Amino acid sequence: MRAAIEAHDAGADVALVSKIHPTRSHSGAAEGGINAALGNASEDDPEKHSFDTVKGSDYLGDQDAIEILCNEAPDDVYQLEHWGAVFSRTDDGRIAQRPFGAAGEPRTAYAADITGHVLVHVLYEQVMKRDLKVYEEFFVWKLVEHEDRCQGVIAWNLLDGGLATIGAKTVILTTGGAGRLYTGTTNAYACTGDGMAQALRLGVALEDMEMMQFHPTTLAPTGVLITEGCRGEGAYLLNSDGDRFLKNYAPNAMELASRDVISRAEQTEIDEGRGVDGNVLLDLRHLGAEKILERLHGTRELSMVFAGVDPIHEPIPVRPGAHYHMGGVDTDVWGRTSLEGLYAAGECACVSVHGANRLGGNALMETITFGKRAGAHAADWALTHTTVTVPESAEADAQHELQELLDRDDGERPWSIRNELAETMHENFGVFRREEQMRRQEEIVDGLHERYEQVVVEDKGDIFNNDLTQALELGFMLDLASCMVIAGIERKESRGAHARPYDFPDRDDENYLRHTLVTMENGAPRLGWKPVTMTKWQPMERTY
Ligand SMILES: Cc1cc2nc3c(=O)[nH]c(=O)nc-3n(C[C@H](O)[C@H](O)[C@H](O)COP(=O)(O)OP(=O)(O)OC[C@H]3O[C@@H](n4cnc5c(N)ncnc54)[C@H](O)[C@@H]3O)c2cc1C
Repeated sequence: MRAAIEAHDAGADVALVSKIHPTRSHSGAAEGGINAALGNASEDDPEKHSFDTVKGSDYLGDQDAIEILCNEAPDDVYQLEHWGAVFSRTDDGRIAQRPFGAAGEPRTAYAADITGHVLVHVLYEQVMKRDLKVYEEFFVWKLVEHEDRCQGVIAWNLLDGGLATIGAKTVILTTGGAGRLYTGTTNAYACTGDGMAQALRLGVALEDMEMMQFHPTTLAPTGVLITEGCRGEGAYLLNSDGDRFLKNYAPNAMELASRDVISRAEQTEIDEGRGVDGNVLLDLRHLGAEKILERLHGTRELSMVFAGVDPIHEPIPVRPGAHYHMGGVDTDVWGRTSLEGLYAAGECACVSVHGANRLGGNALMETITFGKRAGAHAADWALTHTTVTVPESAEADAQHELQELLDRDDGERPWSIRNELAETMHENFGVFRREEQMRRQEEIVDGLHERYEQVVVEDKGDIFNNDLTQALELGFMLDLASCMVIAGIERKESRGAHARPYDFPDRDDENYLRHTLVTMENGAPRLGWKPVTMTKWQPMERTY
């Protein structure tokens, strides 16, 4: 939505396409806040924000992109405020900012613990105000490539059935993450990495796909997120002995260390027998009822509804869960991909501001700042270039392929393959990674790919055919899993979210201070590399 607004305001004729209603986008689930060095709670500036982000990324983030993000963030947040985003306030009426993990200053602006919900609704109001065309509940299945450029999309109309081809001089993918590749995830059912896979299928590279972030505080067994804002407000993490175990892993930052560090600490406590039923405990009780009700109201409700625990009186059982994909479609700082006319921004892109580990609060900011930039560039390209031609064969070929799938009567339903994929990714490509498990996962994914060739869609109907769309999503996820696993096997070091304590426990800047790039050739993933862009900061030991 931020990209569309910018493109419209630059003079382009814009449409949004979304497989769910735009306000149901998963951004609406973001709780804790959005990072910008406003300096309202301390002496802060974009340089400090940049350094924290570079260090948080375990030095894999591209420093030019990080500096852009941190320099543009304050104005971009004020823009959201002027559009009507109701941020929580300091006593003197400025935007309040809370501490977040691995941030040297309190710089996370928030709207209680429903920040994403507030931002999504503000942006949707701006979309409506501009009267932008919204193809709501249209499932994009394919991108149209013609004459070496992207010229639109082919979508399945969820409400009425049938394919629709939408031509466009430029297309911006903003399709979000792929957390559904895992069983224990904070991500919604819609987060299946569609745009990443669609770009991959046109030969565009995916970057740093091994870097899946595990959030330290997800609620068992659903995976519902308990926001980092809890720890920002002062919550403790305890093991079964009642110890604040982070003193052994991050003695200075404690519960406000970076997510990769805390997730590994939790998993170690659980693996070594100091967990509580496969969890550790997040204790908010000392914050007091008043603070919990004022600032963490939504968190209290989530833990009461999903775990039957009232954090005013009891600690919340939490464990690491798949949360955020640092990897995605390889783009430059304007969202451009290697295919002319195709852009990407937000979680589906890898620009890369998060490198090997994202800091909480930086993802929402990325969607806004790089959404805006992609919108501006895509509009400029569209306004200064030629017409759109979508060959008739594009939709005819897609129709043919779809019909083949729908005509198939014997085979396996998508669900079993999808469940197996998610369970095995969790098992073999989780917080800690072993070479033999990753290799096993590679074989498992290959086997699932073969079974997918015979997948059967039992619902042959037109209206809200979830059976069909879930089958198509499964195809996307299988492609992405192949990319993740090959990149994970080949990155023979431990950096950020990619932890190999058993064979390569250390970061290896000499050999691996570079991005993985995976392309798909003849249906098989192929690995390449790309240097990290450094501006000011040389790699240092990363302690918290
Ligand atoms: C529970 C949770 C809490 C979080 N909290 C924070 C936080 O406090 N601060 C922070 O900075 N980050 C947070 N994050 C991360 C952040 O919210 C996300 O990275 C970000 O919101 C993703 O935004 P997006 O626009 O890229 O994707 P999304 O908001 O997921 O939107 C994707 C859009 O693409 C559409 N789409 C997808 N596939 C298709 C298709 N095939 N056809 C048509 N449309 C399609 C969807 O309909 C949707 O509209 C959180 C993440 C989670 C899961």
